[in-house]
Amino acid sequence: KHTAAIPTLTIKVVLLGESAVGKSSIVLRFVSDDFKESKEPTIGAAFLTKRITRDGKVIKFEIWDTAGQERFAPLAPMYYRNAQAALVVFDVTNEGSFYKAQNWVEELHEKVGHDIVIALVGNKMDLLNNDDENENRAMKAPAVQNLCERENLLYFEASAKTGENIYQIFQTLGEKVPCPE
Ligand code: GDP
Repeated sequence: KHTAAIPTLTIKVVLLGESAVGKSSIVLRFVSDDFKESKEPTIGAAFLTKRITRDGKVIKFEIWDTAGQERFAPLAPMYYRNAQAALVVFDVTNEGSFYKAQNWVEELHEKVGHDIVIALVGNKMDLLNNDDENENRAMKAPAVQNLCERENLLYFEASAKTGENIYQIFQTLGEKVPCPE
């Protein structure tokens, strides 16, 4: 007895960004719907998979979470080389992490080309939720918008802590990454 094979689209995703912006936490939220206040830092890289279904199709994400520390940066090309998508993450309360993210985007476009789908993610939005004056927001909207338009990025404001927008990021990648014919 056989069952009809459900078509599966496999998408390799790499996470890049400064240390402690919440890359591993975003992956943990998406894969296990969990959050930890203090986490062991990732050494080198971690690999996880997660399947979601969309329009009767299975999308399998192969997720490479890279360590943010500068000493691991030389390893990054190994992880982004064959990626169809990237999450480039910064912390919305940390200006330096935004400029680091900008560097990663430029490196991806230079080394991988423009076919890769890049989502820029401003993480830790929960830290701004009671901040009406946006005093702790490190990057004002025009600066972010500017980068997104110039580099053709998807943009999400998210929180691994509350789960805000985390699923939507991956769902959107599933829509934007072209199916191989
Ligand atoms: P990574 O080095 O980029 O992988 O960052 P981690 O995922 O290890 O997170 C670094 C720290 O930030 C940890 O203490 C997390 O609990 C915390 N963190 C991660 N995401 C969020 C978030 O959305 N909101 C808040 N408030 N803290 C977060």
